[in-house]
Amino acid sequence: MNVHNAELVISAVSPAQYPDTPLPEIALAGRSNVGKSSFINTLINRKGLARTSGKPGKTQTLNFYLIENALHFVDVPGYGYAKVSKTERAKWGKMIETYLTGRKQLKAVVSLVDMRHEPTADDVQMYEFLKYYQLPVIVVATKSDKIPRGKWQKHAAVIKKKLNMDPQDTFVIFSSETKEGKEAAWQAIESYL
Ligand code: GDP
Repeated sequence: MNVHNAELVISAVSPAQYPDTPLPEIALAGRSNVGKSSFINTLINRKGLARTSGKPGKTQTLNFYLIENALHFVDVPGYGYAKVSKTERAKWGKMIETYLTGRKQLKAVVSLVDMRHEPTADDVQMYEFLKYYQLPVIVVATKSDKIPRGKWQKHAAVIKKKLNMDPQDTFVIFSSETKEGKEAAWQAIESYL
């Protein structure tokens, strides 16, 4: 998809605030700092619409971006930020669980992991949660520009194994620096719309 129009329509904390439209939704989840805002901005050809986080874990809202009047990207606040209190974490958990398990418009989830490292316990937990609810997942391995191309397949194998990745899910190697994987990511997303 070649995106010309994208706008933030609502930062929601409860279902009453979700947009009242039948448009398909693609949620995006990942640890703070994984490169989620950069991924969104790359896909929608914008520099700074999705906020790149100076303060990881700060955004505790579900941000709905309307793309080309055709779909919503739903930016799920980043997880795994140590300085968030237990109460905050519980609130975050409840909010995303409510959204991910109850939203009819949700077609698939983009789960972002840092390609340089083995997925963390939080990454694995998120993936298992999504699979438990039978949601299609597009696993996006970010920051591929930081790894020599010759090692990509090795890193990909480590990630797939650690996540015990469902062979039906798509795996995309991505970089917001080089735009590697931009087309593949859009293709995967569009296959679920
Ligand atoms: P978020 O917290 O998941 O939204 O992550 P951001 O998109 O704000 O990115 C976190 C940091 O990683 C920033 O310093 C980005 O510049 C950097 N970053 C994000 N994507 C890439 C990438 O593909 N390559 C490189 N080298 N750095 C990236």
